[in-house]
Amino acid sequence: MVGCPACSRKTEFTSANRWRPFCSERCKMIDLGAWAAGRYVIGGEPVDPESPAAETPRPGPPADDAR
Ligand SMILES: [Zn+2]
Repeated sequence: MVGCPACSRKTEFTSANRWRPFCSERCKMIDLGAWAAGRYVIGGEPVDPESPAAETPRPGPPADDAR
């Protein structure tokens, strides 16, 4: 028996439990979601200085036309 990493519930660590070491599919998804969220927070937005988006001209200030 092992503790589920997501909810700490005791679950059987056997080949019969396809979600091991988690107790259920839900807990596995929770853990994967937390892991992915952590990666997104750490990685943030990818900044590539050679990205073509960097050369895209920005639209002028809208206030200029209003006057
Ligand atoms: Zn669980």
